[in-house]
Amino acid sequence: MIITLKKNAPQVEVDALIHHFEGMGLKVNMIHGDNWNVFGLVGDTTHLDERSILANQWVENVQRVQAPYKLANRMFHPEDTVVDVSGIKIGAGQPVVIMAGPCAVESKEGLCEIAQEVKSAGAEILRGGAYKPRTSPYSFQGLGTEGVMDLVEARKRTGMPVVSELMSVDKLDEFVENVDLIQIGARNMQNFDLLKAVGRTNKPVLLKRGMSATIEEWIMSAEYIMASGNPNVIFCERGIRTFEKYTRNTMDLAVVPILKDKTHLPVVIDPSHATGDWKLVKAVSLAAIAAGADGLIIECHNHPEMALSDGMQSLKPEKFADLVQSARKVAEAVGRTL
Ligand code: PEP
Ligand code: MN
Repeated sequence: MIITLKKNAPQVEVDALIHHFEGMGLKVNMIHGDNWNVFGLVGDTTHLDERSILANQWVENVQRVQAPYKLANRMFHPEDTVVDVSGIKIGAGQPVVIMAGPCAVESKEGLCEIAQEVKSAGAEILRGGAYKPRTSPYSFQGLGTEGVMDLVEARKRTGMPVVSELMSVDKLDEFVENVDLIQIGARNMQNFDLLKAVGRTNKPVLLKRGMSATIEEWIMSAEYIMASGNPNVIFCERGIRTFEKYTRNTMDLAVVPILKDKTHLPVVIDPSHATGDWKLVKAVSLAAIAAGADGLIIECHNHPEMALSDGMQSLKPEKFADLVQSARKVAEAVGRTL
């Protein structure tokens, strides 16, 4: 971390700052310029808060040299992490994994039917929300525990591991017992109590990007989970909110190479929530694989027009099967399999 002091900072203040940082176990390298005094802080600065340092009236500028995350940082963990979701391995050049299923679990039979179809088309993990974060309190809120038990039944019938969104800490035990991959939704990306709670388990976590979160804030949320003891984190980009109206969100595909550079964790893309339109899902899926994504999570429904949530972005099984076939070709073209 580099701290530039104001021109007229009195020596007594400079000494006090040096004393403060040395007291924290950091080495302070001082550069005296004609106009500026600059400190170079050497050591672990992850726990320092730039904004508090800037609160000192004699500090002109604070610049981080190292990222504020450690456990998620590629610099301290050069090898790619592989996350094992009940036998399905994600990350580190493993075959691209496709997760698919309805936005929400609506009924046991409907779920088992679509599960079988997405499995035959090539999906390896079944998605389905049992607790739904809906904008309106009058919209379908999910089947709750019944939905979780339907997922358990669909897993029994198809052999596919299941991913579902956990919205509150009080359902953690239910998820640890019944779900293979715990999804933290965009709206909860900075629910720090929830992040710490899943961090205390060893269940794999699919961490979605908050709709207005920077990449660094998102990585810091992964850091929360990891700092609580759980290294099994998978990033999931689901589009961010911009001024654009032709899509539900704006897909930020650059996150794939950026996250691969900054971190060692797997990256999955959700083209359904990113576009909000089933007609755009295939193109974005193929682009995601070409960009190096480790997996996709795609909403599918047998009767999208009757879906209780997100019908407009849900693919019918035959469209999903067509997507998987094309995705396989793109994966091969970029040296991956699927
Ligand atoms: C979902 O995947 O069902 C969902 C609600 O997604 P997001 O949190 O990305 O909006
Ligand atoms: Mn949805």
